[in-house]
Amino acid sequence: MNHLQQEIRRRRTFAIISHPDAGKTTLTEKLLVLGGAIRTAGAVKSRKAEKFATSDWMELEKKRGISVTSSVMQFEYAGYKINILDTPGHQDFSEDTYRTLMAVDSVVMIIDAAKGVEPQTIKLFKVCRDRGIPIFTFINKLDRQGKEPLELFEEIEDVLGIETYPINYPIGMGQSFRGVYDRVEHKIEWYNDKRERQVQQLGEVEELGDILKKTVDDYTLRQLEENLLLLDEAGSTFDFESVESGKQTPVFFGSAISSFGIPTFLEHYLKMAPDPQPRQSSGGLVSPDDDGFSGFIFKIQANMNPSHRDRIAFLRICSGRFEKGMTVYLDRTGKQLKLAQPQQFFADSRELIDEAYPGDIVGLYDTGFYQIGDTVCDSRDTFNFGALPQFAPEHFAKVRAKNAMKQKHFLKGVSQLAQEGAIQVYKTPFEETILGVVGTLQFDVFVYRMQAEYGVDLDIEHMPHQVAKWIAKREDAEALRRNSNNLVVTDYKDRPVIIFENDFSLRWFQQKHPDVELRDSSHNM
Ligand code: GDP
Repeated sequence: MNHLQQEIRRRRTFAIISHPDAGKTTLTEKLLVLGGAIRTAGAVKSRKAEKFATSDWMELEKKRGISVTSSVMQFEYAGYKINILDTPGHQDFSEDTYRTLMAVDSVVMIIDAAKGVEPQTIKLFKVCRDRGIPIFTFINKLDRQGKEPLELFEEIEDVLGIETYPINYPIGMGQSFRGVYDRVEHKIEWYNDKRERQVQQLGEVEELGDILKKTVDDYTLRQLEENLLLLDEAGSTFDFESVESGKQTPVFFGSAISSFGIPTFLEHYLKMAPDPQPRQSSGGLVSPDDDGFSGFIFKIQANMNPSHRDRIAFLRICSGRFEKGMTVYLDRTGKQLKLAQPQQFFADSRELIDEAYPGDIVGLYDTGFYQIGDTVCDSRDTFNFGALPQFAPEHFAKVRAKNAMKQKHFLKGVSQLAQEGAIQVYKTPFEETILGVVGTLQFDVFVYRMQAEYGVDLDIEHMPHQVAKWIAKREDAEALRRNSNNLVVTDYKDRPVIIFENDFSLRWFQQKHPDVELRDSSHNM
């Protein structure tokens, strides 16, 4: 194995998907502490404490500036190099959140034991499922009373349509939570107040009852034994290929706040999760250990300093070795450029770097050179990894320049900000501009930036619509447009999109037009 292959093999690049408050920040923090990347818990949290109540730009900037560094976090554990990509989930939920999932090799899904599968988790899960990447489940907050484990498995299977395979199983819950039993390695990990890791290896499985008799009541023990038996006999069998293709999810239990179950989770995860895999490109399959360097831009973030127009483009490395100062070619334009000031991100800082490997994320200084989905290669003979899909927004507004004389600036600003990818821009048949966003905060950001960066004051008219779908066939769009009850618009690539007020009107439409194929994202369109 050469040096490049060794570096690839030890890389794990993932994102955490969850509904707000399930414990993503807490888990991230504990992982970083474990990896020695931050010394005390609280470093990640503090940025969340800066949640802003208003859309005040300075606050926004502060928040965005900080989240530049925390949008990718790298640390080492047991010889592995781990990249965690942040998926903004509160007010800052946006298309970036979805797109980040295109740049990872696996995901960790956190579920609150009391709440089960929640809406935002479902949305993010679907994106991962479409990519067929491995999904690892961490059921959190076992220190509180939650739903029964079997009920949670059933819910995950029914709602998300993925098979579950519990690697460990909780012993009690809430007040009577004692720890977890590792079904694969036959170990008990004891839960204690001291937050020390106490693991007891069992000889035979039968020993479990003898040991637990001393610590849990008869009822809990009987339930546990019955459930474990049920899982062994009627539950799914572990199948590595199914995990790899995202059809089965290994499930872990723990309590992030008390750091319980996290090292165990991480160790299993590192063994099971894939290192960077080959990716399909316009020039065929690109293997990470190809000598030629390649990567793609999945996110562009504006500079926190409004007097500088520059931005940071986030590049996911797909093949070869990245070196500071290397010359690359942009597939979209064929232009050549030198990657002079590459940055890499750590828990609470960003640093200039000299080299990086497939799976890593590099921040590139951008003066408007890149677009989301761009591929760069170190050879003149470029290829691309395909455009990143767009995801259906849930909030819509009509916008126009207050001053009609500013129309040129308006169009320029709209198209440039749309390229950054936080908003989608649609045209109605009457040449009106409609913005679509995944999180409403993006409207405020848009209005502010149009004013600050393009000198255009906007009139913004919020629309009651909530659902957008791409229309798979253009012929269908033509036919639908003829009926003025349908709001059929086009996205920036001129693909037809239909916008509905709510799910009810969507279902009504689908009943009336069963043959019209609608899509959640522009994947492969
Ligand atoms: P995020 O919104 O998903 O990032 O969630 P946070 O990590 O901020 O957690 C949301 C709330 O749940 C916070 O008040 C945490 O302290 C709390 N929390 C996180 N993990 C646990 C846990 O294991 N047990 C309990 N009881 N609370 C937790």
